[in-house]
Amino acid sequence: MTAADLDRAVARARAAQPGWAAASDDQRAEVCRALAALLTDHSEELARLLTQEQGKPLNGLGSRWEIGGAAAWAGYTAGLSLPPKVLQDDAAGRVELHRKPVGVVGSITPWNFPVLIAIWHIVPALRVGNTVVMKPSPLTPLAALRFVELASAVLPAGVLTIVTGDDRAVNLGAEMSSHPGIDKIVFTGSIATGRQVMRSAAGTLKRLTLELGGNDAGIVLPDADPGLIAEGLFWGAFINNGQTCAALKRLYVHDDIHDQVCEALVEYTRNIPVGDGMDEASILGPLQNRMQFDVVSGLVASAANRGQVLLGGKPGEGLFFPPTLIAGLANGDPLVDREQFGPALPIIRYTDIAGAVAAANDNPNGLGGSVWSSDPDAARALALQLECGSVWINKHGAVQPNAPFGGVKSSGMGVQFAEEGLAENTVAQVVFG
Ligand code: NAD
Repeated sequence: MTAADLDRAVARARAAQPGWAAASDDQRAEVCRALAALLTDHSEELARLLTQEQGKPLNGLGSRWEIGGAAAWAGYTAGLSLPPKVLQDDAAGRVELHRKPVGVVGSITPWNFPVLIAIWHIVPALRVGNTVVMKPSPLTPLAALRFVELASAVLPAGVLTIVTGDDRAVNLGAEMSSHPGIDKIVFTGSIATGRQVMRSAAGTLKRLTLELGGNDAGIVLPDADPGLIAEGLFWGAFINNGQTCAALKRLYVHDDIHDQVCEALVEYTRNIPVGDGMDEASILGPLQNRMQFDVVSGLVASAANRGQVLLGGKPGEGLFFPPTLIAGLANGDPLVDREQFGPALPIIRYTDIAGAVAAANDNPNGLGGSVWSSDPDAARALALQLECGSVWINKHGAVQPNAPFGGVKSSGMGVQFAEEGLAENTVAQVVFG
């Protein structure tokens, strides 16, 4: 699509917005529930399309899981609302807080969870009366296009429009970020692009929700049970082949149990079937694109010179990269400091817990983190010391629709999910009278 196509999509969204905002709260909730039902009714078709364009397997925490999650999120979000609040009602006067839609919301999504993240953007925006123009990643537009085609059966015309194109011909994301007809951008993607969105949005003072990159640390305390936590550590790190914003990307393990944790992780990881995503037996697939494959290959090749490769380490055929575990690394190594966004987990040995917390926090990212221990109270106390938007205990990356999710530091601004996420799609108006 061209910039002129975007102009038409925005004009359509602007024309539809007052009517959509005038629909009753119940009507909009009903339509959002219908979107959830569409995802459920067409789940297998969407999952197969998603596997074919993204690479993630149908099974495991792959495409069927993603479409199921999208349906669950849409259904839960349909049930949320932000009724007016009476802040004061006494002899001095009455003060009411109303939440009104921002107007037209532009959604820009990445290639790792093309359907789930689109639903995270679209449904809360629609729920509170905005219309939406959405733009998927040029690398994964197909399942999103099919979803919008299906959604057009339940949404009034102009309420949700999708624009797609190759960033090299015309950068539609950049055009959206500076477009005078778009009132807010919800963006999920890299920190570098997030900065560009912020710059482009300055001219029109758009509202922004930015969900950016992460380099989540996990800290394993000396009292953790290696055999019990290996599965959770694996999925924390390797969900979607590590191409996940809030995946475990650096693992700090106490010296007392370091070797046992490494052994348990190797044992669990070596049994995971990696293969063609359309094969029902596959649990992990290939990387999604050549650019990311080259990033992961480069970081792993370099780290292998300094650390010990416990498993994997060498690129496979095509875009397949085997799940890789590398011990003996430290902060300062690019595989530790940078977001690898792929199936390679650096393991860092530590002796001093305060030092591990300092090392975990010594990073510009602040999306998620985790603490692994047999003592939940001790783990919770340590969790509060981590500089990140979400911290999990004895698991990693388990987001849910009733808990706000967002990054601190360079990992973004604003939150999604729950009432807090809904409120980001509104502007406040206070009536004093
Ligand atoms: P990316 O930043 O390259 O692209 C994201 C989107 O931005 C794409 O749709 C792209 O077409 C668009 N875009 C490109 N240039 C643009 C511009 N100048 N202005 C506006 N939009 C533009 O990210 P990616 O490689 O697709 O995704 C991977 C990154 O996303 C990782 O860093 C990952 O951590 C992050 N991510 C974050 C979250 C989160 O919730 N915090 C979730 C998923 C992914």
